[in-house]
Amino acid sequence: MNTRNQSFRTVAIRQCLLAFAIAWSLAGLTSASADDTARTFKAGAFAIDITPTKFPVSSNGNMSDHQVTGAHDPLHARCLVLDDGSTKLAIVVCDSCMIPREIFDAARQKAETETGIPTSNILCSATHTHSAVTVAGVFQSEPEVEYRSFLADRIAAGIAQAHSQREPAKIGWGSASDPTQVFNRRWFMKSGYDLADPLDIGKDRVRMNPPRGSDLLDKPSGPIDPEIGFVSVIARDGRPIALLANYSLHYVGGIPGGLLSADYFGEFAQRIAQRLKATNVKPAFVGIMSNGTSGNINNVDFAAKSAPKREPFEQIQVVATSVADATFRAWQKIEHRDWVPLKSVDTEVELGVRRPDAEELAHAKQLLAEAGAGPYRDRRHVYARESVLLADYPATVTTRLQAIQIGDLGIVSSPC
Ligand SMILES: [Zn+2]
Repeated sequence: MNTRNQSFRTVAIRQCLLAFAIAWSLAGLTSASADDTARTFKAGAFAIDITPTKFPVSSNGNMSDHQVTGAHDPLHARCLVLDDGSTKLAIVVCDSCMIPREIFDAARQKAETETGIPTSNILCSATHTHSAVTVAGVFQSEPEVEYRSFLADRIAAGIAQAHSQREPAKIGWGSASDPTQVFNRRWFMKSGYDLADPLDIGKDRVRMNPPRGSDLLDKPSGPIDPEIGFVSVIARDGRPIALLANYSLHYVGGIPGGLLSADYFGEFAQRIAQRLKATNVKPAFVGIMSNGTSGNINNVDFAAKSAPKREPFEQIQVVATSVADATFRAWQKIEHRDWVPLKSVDTEVELGVRRPDAEELAHAKQLLAEAGAGPYRDRRHVYARESVLLADYPATVTTRLQAIQIGDLGIVSSPC
């Protein structure tokens, strides 16, 4: 996921449906010429509220549907528009678990009509908070149909507002590290541990979310990625406009049932505004945290024998503070440039779908026949239902890859 060598550095932001993957590369791309520096670089940012106006609503992110009756903190689509004088692009990060492509496509089309930014230059993603509104059918949750069009409209309106707020700006980027909040969630186990798979028809090689502190933990099944890549935009007078960061952390959680929350992604936005002394600037500063390659990374230290007892939302604050502090320390050392060239390209790729084989499908159908009508609580029945649904998928799906160049910084994304 996160590839490295001596001259090339890569970070990825997940693009939910399902997210995006961003890669920062700091070598070999073009730099500004004398002619270029005569042009004006502009930026604008706006966080538009996407909290639903009607409750209860479905919230996905668990093994079964979850009806919520309010929001602990607001959900946002955080929009950043950059303009080098000839090329404009927009980056949007939404407080949502998973966003199907058709919502982003509708939003990007509308934003292009309103701003002239080509759809190919608009990169949209979800944070993957597990406490937002269901817009993709996941684990026994069904999409909130009205909210889907509301969300597309809001994303487009957020891009349009950020576009209208463009002002002469400087841009910089850098890399921080916070290894204290990222842990592998899939572990090799010692002999004696029963590695059943979700359908109990084979043996998994690793256990996801193993028992914390177990003597049977052998070793994590991969590396973690502690890097925080970030892009910073400031006004000509030094006033912060936006900071877009990327960290490979699934989400944090610790949110009481019945409430929506932007999780640590929203809290990071507040914390970084405080660190940059940008809580009261006009136009409002926009902090943005996007999700990296966090498939095998979460915030649970499985090797630890014990964990501190936390109040609801407390762990979110701990993580957001730690990541914002690390980002701020690195931010203080970066150079903001007067002008850099922008470029954005996208393409479609066809990916194979790993569908259940005949034996798995027959076993899944048998499990569901025995279980009767859902909703299901037993893990085997939940996965059996997913297997039956997955069997009806096409053999391949077409997905969008996108790359953005900001000076000699490269940002690459892919859905997951
Ligand atoms: Zn998840």
